[in-house]
Amino acid sequence: MSTNYAFIGAGNMAKAMIGGILSSGLAAPDCVTASNPSAPKLDALKEEFGIRTIQQGNAKAAAQADVLVLSVKPYLYETVIAEIRDVVKPETIVVMIAAGQTLSANETRFGKPVKLVRVMPNTPALVGEAMSAVCFNANITPEDRTIVMAMLNSFGKAEEVPEKLMDAVTGVSGSSPAYVYMFIEAMADAAVLHGMPRKQAYTFAAQSVLGSAKMVLETGMHPGELKDNVCSPGGTTIEAVASLEASGLRSAVIDAIDTCVKKSQEMS
Ligand code: NAD
Repeated sequence: MSTNYAFIGAGNMAKAMIGGILSSGLAAPDCVTASNPSAPKLDALKEEFGIRTIQQGNAKAAAQADVLVLSVKPYLYETVIAEIRDVVKPETIVVMIAAGQTLSANETRFGKPVKLVRVMPNTPALVGEAMSAVCFNANITPEDRTIVMAMLNSFGKAEEVPEKLMDAVTGVSGSSPAYVYMFIEAMADAAVLHGMPRKQAYTFAAQSVLGSAKMVLETGMHPGELKDNVCSPGGTTIEAVASLEASGLRSAVIDAIDTCVKKSQEMS
């Protein structure tokens, strides 16, 4: 029997996840439902993917779901769960993707046994390259895990982590696209400084980040070894590396992520 997926909240994350589920063949469009208060986002999803949509129908969407994704902003979790808790079936897998929403706090909101999953994806989900961290509550079975991991892997990579690492995940992957965009922008600015057209500079900088990330993931080599391999003795690259060390690049990155993790801990 096919799995029915439902999304409460039809925004950016829902769109990215629906795109992954459909393109990987996990479900047919008529097995995916999205619910949202306003019509335009639903109309756009229906137009693009041919899925089912329900306006103002969170409880209806929740009642028919095998996998139910709460893809609304964190402050709406309390309201949405109050609206759906009576109709969520005991076997439905409820996936929370909002920052700071813990398993225990939301088990309490449901007020009955519920299969709950906490996920922290990131925006590259929109191009099928998310890094998602996931943890499960005690009611999740091995079969449920398989279903959830297949869904998360349909729009990027996913790994299980203990829930206590979710704040570190926020720092290293949830928020890190912003730091990487700053790095790309700065590299492009330097190329523009030396005469390269702006658009071309973004392509060169971004492709270099993409390729370097692939080298780390696909070769399994230590990033330091890969860096050493680019640095010829007395060459151009070691000049730049020495300058970055003098400017404190590594400690700036570590301090920034440390601040991000602490903020996430305060918000949980
Ligand atoms: P979004 O604002 O694009 O989408 C949220 C949607 O929820 C909107 O379409 C809104 O109309 C709808 N909505 C508002 N009230 C509602 C209600 N009562 N019932 C049903 N729908 C309602 O936000 P997003 O970027 O898709 O983020 C969704 C969740 O994913 C958030 O909790 C966010 O923290 C989390 N998240 C997002 C990212 C990201 O990179 N975008 C990364 C990790 C986690």
